Amino acid sequence: MLIISSCGKEKNKIVFDTSFTTARLDSLITKSENTFEAIIKPAFEPVNKSPWFAFAVSSSTPKTIKLTLNYGDYKHRYIPKLSFDKKTWKKIEPQNIRVDTAKGTATLKLNVSSKKLYVAAQEIESSKDTYAWVDKMIENHSELKKVIAGKTAQNNNNYCIALENESTKNSIVLIARQHPPEIPGGTIGFKSFFETLMANSKTANSFRKNFNIYAFPLLNPDGADLGNWRHNANGVDLNRDWADFTQPETKMVKNYLEEKVSKGAKIQFAIDFHTSYSGPYLLVLDSINTVKSKKIIPNWIRNIENNSNFKVEARKRSQELPYCYNYFINTFNCEAVTYEDGDEIDRDIIKERAKIYAQSLMKTMLLKLENNEL
Ligand SMILES: [Zn+2]
Repeated sequence: MLIISSCGKEKNKIVFDTSFTTARLDSLITKSENTFEAIIKPAFEPVNKSPWFAFAVSSSTPKTIKLTLNYGDYKHRYIPKLSFDKKTWKKIEPQNIRVDTAKGTATLKLNVSSKKLYVAAQEIESSKDTYAWVDKMIENHSELKKVIAGKTAQNNNNYCIALENESTKNSIVLIARQHPPEIPGGTIGFKSFFETLMANSKTANSFRKNFNIYAFPLLNPDGADLGNWRHNANGVDLNRDWADFTQPETKMVKNYLEEKVSKGAKIQFAIDFHTSYSGPYLLVLDSINTVKSKKIIPNWIRNIENNSNFKVEARKRSQELPYCYNYFINTFNCEAVTYEDGDEIDRDIIKERAKIYAQSLMKTMLLKLENNEL
């Protein structure tokens, strides 16, 4: 537990709190009575520009403080989100933030009081939060199982939510949040997608009878809870580890799925949920249109665009990269995508997009099944 407080007099004390999971604020410099600089560092390097921060601040007397977020060699990226309860979040008002693009810092004006104000790069979502959501899904859907599929680098349980039918071997796989700060697509988008698969709609009911679902709701729980910018607890970017499998988290998925496949499971599609500053888009393999492909992806995209106002941007990537979705096509010869939403996209739009994408995928795959194309 680390509490950083200013050196002000007792009745004039400002406390910066980093004692909760997911917190990140490495040190604090007091510039003057109401002016501070927070030093934010990555847990491991090298790392891309994804400077996660999360802390709470309170003051014994209500006041306005100025706080500069200094990321060292890295640059500001995420618009700070504010909350009093870690449930309802609001972006900081534009007039209360000034970004210095040359220095890469951001200076915030914060109204602080005795009520703890949480300030974070994105909505805070600890492993406990995600697992509470998993437990609620299972409470409402007895056909779902929460399986301990393996352990993390820190020897914590790592889970798969499995839905298995006696009558089918066809399966889809969902993987979420390899990268801790990527909550918009990696958690908000993923949850909405999964909830749509579990909805009480004609399409979803039929889909769940005809397909098994293996969902890994938070592949990097250690990284999320430690407030890492990118890596797992061993300092490895999990989404570059799908060729060598040096980490328990990626190894777990490999072992779990390959055992399912050895018992007859046929993985037909996989989605890996992320967030990018330039999202939304899908990363697809450059082999998307080859004859080998069952063309789920092009049909899915057409279905999305025909049934909504969403336009799908598909960016092609080489099949050789050690990314998660490459593993799926290289190992199971199935189609797979990286699903990227955007850092600052309205959360209702993120949820709606994931819902439409899930509905369209279910329709596309059910039609493929009906036409004996799987
Ligand atoms: Zn990512």
